[in-house]
Amino acid sequence: MGRLRRNEKVMVGAIVALVAYALIVGLWVALRAMLYVGAAFAAWAVVAVGLRLLASRRARRAGGRVCARCGYDLRASRGRCPECGALTPPW
Ligand SMILES: [Zn+2]
Repeated sequence: MGRLRRNEKVMVGAIVALVAYALIVGLWVALRAMLYVGAAFAAWAVVAVGLRLLASRRARRAGGRVCARCGYDLRASRGRCPECGALTPPW
């Protein structure tokens, strides 16, 4: 009887250790996934802000005559943007 109890205790201990291990590994995997998603989002934000800054600088250089959608220099174009096909205002 005593021996069986001890075996049961060992089994419960093993199960508890396994569950704790799975929890820790799961948390670590989830944390790492969140880190990757966060890093990807940060990289995307940096690229988006950089592109926006480039477009606005290009717009200033072209004296405002740029495509509103893609920032293409429209000083030599009329009607439609040759880059993205958007309609341009009649300057
Ligand atoms: Zn365009």
